[in-house]
Amino acid sequence: MDQATYDVIVVGIGGMGSATAWQLARRGVRVLGLEQFDAAHDKGASHGDTRLIRKAYFEHPDYVPLLNRAYDLWDDLEAESGRRLFHRTGLILAGNPGTSQVVAGVKKAAREHNLAIETWSAAQAREMYPQFNFDNDWEVLFEEDAGFLRVEECVKAHSDMAEKHGARILYNTKVTSWESTGHGPVRVMTSAGTFQAERLVITSGPWATALLRPLGLNLHLRRMVQHWFEAPPAFDERHGMPCFGLDTDKGFFYGMPAREDVGLKAASHSHGTRFEDPDFMDRSDKDPDLGVLTEFLSTRLKGMPLPRSIKAKPCIYTMSADEHFIIDAWPLPGGARSQSVFFAAGFSGHGFKFATVIGELLADLALTGDARVPFDFLRLRPTVRKQEID
Ligand SMILES: Cc1cc2nc3c(=O)[nH]c(=O)nc-3n(C[C@H](O)[C@H](O)[C@H](O)COP(=O)(O)OP(=O)(O)OC[C@H]3O[C@@H](n4cnc5c(N)ncnc54)[C@H](O)[C@@H]3O)c2cc1C
Repeated sequence: MDQATYDVIVVGIGGMGSATAWQLARRGVRVLGLEQFDAAHDKGASHGDTRLIRKAYFEHPDYVPLLNRAYDLWDDLEAESGRRLFHRTGLILAGNPGTSQVVAGVKKAAREHNLAIETWSAAQAREMYPQFNFDNDWEVLFEEDAGFLRVEECVKAHSDMAEKHGARILYNTKVTSWESTGHGPVRVMTSAGTFQAERLVITSGPWATALLRPLGLNLHLRRMVQHWFEAPPAFDERHGMPCFGLDTDKGFFYGMPAREDVGLKAASHSHGTRFEDPDFMDRSDKDPDLGVLTEFLSTRLKGMPLPRSIKAKPCIYTMSADEHFIIDAWPLPGGARSQSVFFAAGFSGHGFKFATVIGELLADLALTGDARVPFDFLRLRPTVRKQEID
C-alpha cells in the first residue's frame, strides 16, 4: 500500500473531478486524483472543443443559483490559470411558444431569477441574425451573458491548477474497488496499488454504472456524435455569430460558431444511440443520425444548402431517470449518510457548464458535510434509483 497520506481521494479527473481536485487543493487539502486515462482525454464526456454555457435554465429554475456561482468560479479559474476558457458570444434559443418547453422554461427561469433575456418575433430575429431561418410563429430568445466553454482547456486548467496547489494526480490508473465503513479512512484499490484517505469523492462520469453499482442508480448511456461543418464567414465568431439551440418538431439541435481553423460545430441533443458499456463504445466517427442533422442545418441555417461534416467525434451522455444531476453522500443503512464517501453522477448531457460549482460543492461536502449553494433538489432520490437499498 502507498504510504503517503491524503485527506481526499478523487476518482475520475474529468469535468467534475478535475474541478473538485482544484477546489480541494486550493484550500490546502492533501488531494490524490486517480484517472484511468490521460489528462483531458477523449473517451468520456468532457471533450469535443466546446460546451454551451447559459443561465436562463429551461431544465429547472433551481439550477440558476448554482449557475451564478459557476460563472464566478469560471472567472476565478480564468484569472488563476491565465487561459481564456469562456467565450461570451451570446445564445439564441428559439421554438414555438405554444409547444416548446425550452421557450417556456427559459422565460420562467429568467422571470424567477431576474435574468436579462431579449424576446423577439421571428421577423425581428431574422433582421438581427439573417444567418437563421426561423418559422414565422416562433419566439426567439436571446441571452447575452451566455456562450461556450473550451471543454478540454477547462479540464486542463482545473487539473493543472490543482497540481500547482499541491494535488497529486495519477493518470492511467484505474480504480477497481474501494472500502469504507462510513466513518473512518477509505481504502481505494487501483491498477497501481492501494491508497488510503480520510474521504473519497467519486466523479466517474459514464463509468458511474460500474463504480456506483450498489446505489442501484437508474442510469443509461447514449453515444452522441458532435460534428464540425464548413461554413461561410457569416457563421464565424469574429462576424458576431452567436451560439444557438433550436427546438424544432424533429428535435432540439444546437451549435457554436466557427472560429479560426475550427468549423461550425453542430449536434442533436434529442437523438444518439443507447449502449451499455463505455469500455466498448464505438469510437469511430460513424453517425446514424447525420442525415437528420444535415437536414436541420440546410433548412435552418441560410447559406449552408449542402452541409459537409469535416470532423466528427462521439461522446457520452450519462442520463439519469429524470435528467437531473445526482449529488450526495453515500447512503448508509437506516437512512444515515456516510461522512466519508461522496459522489456526483447522471449529468444527463447538460452538466459541463456547472463543473466549477460542482467541484466547489463536492469539496464543501467532503470537508464539512454541507455546501454553500442550495442543491437539495439534486440529492439521491427514489425516482432516480432502480431499487431502494436500506
Ligand atoms: C456531445 C456532448 C455535448 C454536450 N454538451 C454540453 C453543453 O453544451 N453544455 C453542458 O453544460 N454540458 C454538455 N454536455 C455534458 C457534459 O459534457 C457532461 O455532463 C460532463 O462533461 C460530465 O463530466 P463528468 O466529470 O461527469 O464525466 P467525465 O468528464 O467523463 O469524467 C469522468 C472521469 O472518470 C474517469 N473514470 C471513470 N471510472 C474510473 C475508474 N474506475 N478509475 C479511474 N478513473 C475513472 C473517466 O476516465 C473520466 O475521465 C455534453 C456532453 C456530450 C457528450
